[in-house]
Amino acid sequence: VNLYGEARRNARGVDLTDTAHLRWLHEGMEAADRREWHAGPTVSGQVRSGDAKPVHSPADHGREVGRVTWATEEDVERALARASAAAADWDATPGERRAACLERYAELLEEEMPTLIALCCREAGKHIPDGVAEVREAVDFCRYYAAQSRREFNGPVTLPGPTGERNTLSLHGRGVFVCISPWNFPLAIFTGQVAAALVAGNAVIAKPAEQTSLIGQYAVQLMHRAGIPQEVLHLLPGDGPTVGGPLVRDPRVNGVAFTGSVPTARLINRQLAEREGPIIPFIAETGGQNAMIVDSSALLEQVTADVLKSSFQSAGQRCSALRVLYVQTDVADELLEMLTGAMAELRIGDPWRLSTDVTPVIDDDARRMLLEHCEHMQREAKLLYRCPDPEAAEAGTFVAPHAFELQSLKQLPEEKFGPILHVIRFRARDLDRVIDEINGTGFGLTFGIHSRIDRTVNHVVSRMKVGNAYANRNMIGAVVGVHPFGGEGLSGTGPKAGGPHYLYRFATERALSIDT
Ligand code: GLU
Repeated sequence: VNLYGEARRNARGVDLTDTAHLRWLHEGMEAADRREWHAGPTVSGQVRSGDAKPVHSPADHGREVGRVTWATEEDVERALARASAAAADWDATPGERRAACLERYAELLEEEMPTLIALCCREAGKHIPDGVAEVREAVDFCRYYAAQSRREFNGPVTLPGPTGERNTLSLHGRGVFVCISPWNFPLAIFTGQVAAALVAGNAVIAKPAEQTSLIGQYAVQLMHRAGIPQEVLHLLPGDGPTVGGPLVRDPRVNGVAFTGSVPTARLINRQLAEREGPIIPFIAETGGQNAMIVDSSALLEQVTADVLKSSFQSAGQRCSALRVLYVQTDVADELLEMLTGAMAELRIGDPWRLSTDVTPVIDDDARRMLLEHCEHMQREAKLLYRCPDPEAAEAGTFVAPHAFELQSLKQLPEEKFGPILHVIRFRARDLDRVIDEINGTGFGLTFGIHSRIDRTVNHVVSRMKVGNAYANRNMIGAVVGVHPFGGEGLSGTGPKAGGPHYLYRFATERALSIDT
């Protein structure tokens, strides 16, 4: 039992070195690959089909993964009407029962792991270890929020007061929550948002990212199977202008959770400010211009492994990924030689293959933007290393990992969401200037430091304005309940997913005082 009274354990996942586990995984993945997948607007459990567009795999554009029907204005209206009618009864359901549904859903996720990994692989271009991590994180979110809901959302607590008066405080859902999730964690973040909103007593309308509707659809199907009432959880695949905008602007919506880009977060914020109806919370997690500082005392072998993982795992498509590596001049040549040597060993290619390290980026737009950035960097900075393209690179949206050396952070005005590392040398006496420069980006998501001098680590970390700082390790893969995840400033409104305070953001508190 930990600090918060939890006896919960995080999901174990699968052992990819165990042949029996691997066989179970592969057989399940092959079976999932033979199924015909479809996603469509799902209102009160009814999935609308028709007018479906093909979904192609980022790793192989010739492969049709499934088909998706996008929501129309009428679907949005139906979902809003049904969700707002169902919200009060769901909120009146004991927290205990809502928690049990989430726990059942977590069990189903574990049973269906091979299918979910296959979908993550095919639709989102994730490799198998990333697929395992997606399922584990989704399971952990459910069990973590369920445990909290049992403790805190299960009826009023009595407060002290004068004789003759009974005072209580209780937590309630806010009504209808809209959850808008990203394609880079199509199962984990999708599940995290929806699970938190549901267990706090809200009805939910989920809008998955356009690129990963099939995974969202399957997750919703499993949630309904786990006992979440069909009237309480609806899914609207589609784009921002048709689905996201009208939902956010509708006065029947009582809360919005969003993970995605800064411009979209700003747009939602404006729409919420200008709409009629209640003033509501906006939970936003956006990107980062994440940096790591390496001083001359660092263990360079470990730095190399941690930089590789932080920059190139998931093809650098994590909000937490390392973008800018600051290396003290004294060790820079040595580290860069080790780093570029290690980059040469990366295997880029088919996510379905267990030996793959670097997977494709999500779509053509992402690839084009990253290649343009690399061309720009070739002119403005020094190319340190570029991994060779994989065979059949043109079949999918592959971007070879690159490392560039920059003179200053000013050469990198915005976050580039992909496998591109930027390196800047610094002198020991300029450490405080480096800290100011990193804080000066306005982002505040993740940060890493490698130093074996405790005083340096403490000094730097205490001045860094970020949500998640990591010392002498990699800086991705936050674990639920262990590394509550979320940033500040341009990186978001601050609530930490998988942390003890997240659920409150989805709830409202009501105090009752009775003169007995
Ligand atoms: N929680 C993830 C990690 O720690 C990143 C989430 C995101 O990319 O939004 O790597």
